[in-house]
Amino acid sequence: MMKCFRLIFSALLLINWANAISNPTGKKIVLPALPYEQTALAPYISANTLEFHYSKHHQGYVDKLNDLILEKNLTDKSLEEIILLSASEPTLTAVFNNAAQTWNHTFYWQSMRSKGGGEPTGKLLEKINKNFGDFSQFKKQFIEAGAKVFGSGWVWLVEEEADLKIVATSNADLPLIKGQKALLVCDVWEHAYYLDYQNRRKDYVEVFLDHLVNWDFALKNMS
Ligand code: MN
Repeated sequence: MMKCFRLIFSALLLINWANAISNPTGKKIVLPALPYEQTALAPYISANTLEFHYSKHHQGYVDKLNDLILEKNLTDKSLEEIILLSASEPTLTAVFNNAAQTWNHTFYWQSMRSKGGGEPTGKLLEKINKNFGDFSQFKKQFIEAGAKVFGSGWVWLVEEEADLKIVATSNADLPLIKGQKALLVCDVWEHAYYLDYQNRRKDYVEVFLDHLVNWDFALKNMS
């Protein structure tokens, strides 16, 4: 019996040692917890969509990223550092895609809340009125931008210098690498809405603004 325990103990030590060699800092990118229950956004985004989107898609990007940063010796870098250094490096395209998707999804979960939507307040509303005319103009442009993205991507409200802008990005692309500050984002990849809205992406983006968007989060992100 003791011999058996000793054998298991030695095997565990060996596994730890092997891990320590391949990943000296032991650092991994961790999937942050969802900021609400998986049922919190229903009926606008179902628990079924959230479960697949978070537990399969987001988790998948994080797992793949951790494999890649071990392989490329990037385990001493923060997620943002990894995104910035891989963005313009053709040999690190897979690293960039998985790192950016990891970041984008964490930001997307925070861009929504239960009983969200409606109009923003304070300096955010003032800036929206200044840059887009009024809130209804902003809303129209944001929905149009979401509907227009060809293939997979994201629609962002960003701050660039003193102005707010609506920016659409393709695939994993994000404002961070363009010197823009993200305030909020809507995921317009099909996996974000297809179970609930099928091909009606425009309806989904409209619901995002009417019932889900977390304006407090966007306000907090303003300079
Ligand atoms: Mn997604």
